Amino acid sequence: MHTKQEIVKYLKQTGERITMPRLAVIQALCELGGHQTTQSIEHYLDAQDIAVPEPTIYRILQWLKDLALVSQTDLGQSGTVYELLSTPPHHHLVCLACGHIQNLDDAAMAPLRVHLRDTYGFEPRIDHMAIFGLCQACQEHAVERDHAHEIPD
Ligand SMILES: [Zn+2]
Ligand SMILES: [Zn+2]
Repeated sequence: MHTKQEIVKYLKQTGERITMPRLAVIQALCELGGHQTTQSIEHYLDAQDIAVPEPTIYRILQWLKDLALVSQTDLGQSGTVYELLSTPPHHHLVCLACGHIQNLDDAAMAPLRVHLRDTYGFEPRIDHMAIFGLCQACQEHAVERDHAHEIPD
C-alpha cells in the first residue's frame, strides 16, 4: 500500500473515520516517503498552510501504527522515525558511536520469524527494526585506540 488513494480506500473499508488532519498526515507520509519525524511532518504541512499541532500528528501516527500501516522505529541519535510500511520491509544497523545508519535486508529476519513462530507460537511484527551496535569503522578505531594504550616493554 503506497498511494494515498489506496490507504484511504483501506481505511474506509475497515470503517475508520477519516478527518482532515488524518488525511493531511497520510498525504505527508506518501509525498515525503522514507523516514519522517513528527517535526518533519509538521514542517511539511506548515509549508502548505495546513496547521496540525505536533501532538495531533503524534496521535495520528500512533493510530496508523496500530493499523499496521506505519512503522515506528527508535534510531537512537537520529530520534524516532515513522515510515509507511512497504513490501518488502527493510531494517537498519545503527552505530552507537558515530550514528551511521546502514540498511539491513529483510532476508536477515526470515530465520528469526520462523524461530519465533515455531518455538514460541509467536507471530512477530518485524516491520522496520533498528539493531544497535558498532559499525566496522568504529570497531577498527577502537582496536587502534586499545593498541595506542599498550605499554611497550
Ligand atoms: Zn528505514
Ligand atoms: Zn560507527
